[in-house]
Amino acid sequence: MTTTNARRALIIVDVQNDFCEGGSLPVTGGLAVAERIATYLHTPGMAYDLIVASRDWHTPGDINGGHFPAEGATPDYNETWPVHCVADTYGALFAPPLAVALGSFVDVIVSKGMGEPAYSAFHGVADHATTLTETLRRHGIEIVDVCGIATDYCVKATALDALAMGFTVNLLPGLHAGVAPETTAAAIGEMAGAGVSIREGIFR
Ligand SMILES: [Zn+2]
Repeated sequence: MTTTNARRALIIVDVQNDFCEGGSLPVTGGLAVAERIATYLHTPGMAYDLIVASRDWHTPGDINGGHFPAEGATPDYNETWPVHCVADTYGALFAPPLAVALGSFVDVIVSKGMGEPAYSAFHGVADHATTLTETLRRHGIEIVDVCGIATDYCVKATALDALAMGFTVNLLPGLHAGVAPETTAAAIGEMAGAGVSIREGIFR
């Protein structure tokens, strides 16, 4: 068992405009999740040793390793997706409710998907090409709380990778949104089956 004094990180996965209502690959409830995460960050007593926000950050004018459809083709919503989160565009920005909180609370931004499909935040890099695993280990993190978008894709991939890297992992209820109800329920079941705890965040 990990003690309550174990060092703990929050990973906020891909809460970006293109994944919220009005974006190019919108997830219903994305904006509400962005607002609830922002509220969570502002809750008195909420304390993490490290807060990380990941972002999909695709290369412009490129199919990003087959993540975007070839010109003239339509996305299959399995391997290929509508063009989204192209680096330095509006769609790639963090959603406004979260963007406001980011400057005050987020310690590290991890970018992923530069020229390739990348669902897990663990495929991303922070400044100086530091991997997320290196970042967490450098801060002595043992427990990782995961939230964000989308539950059935990037949140799931991030939570499962965190487990695989040896961290204790919690999925924060109410602070994530999925593409479809069936795949979201399946993803939560898969995460729980793998050892992810579904539990509220920590307050100290
Ligand atoms: Zn992507």
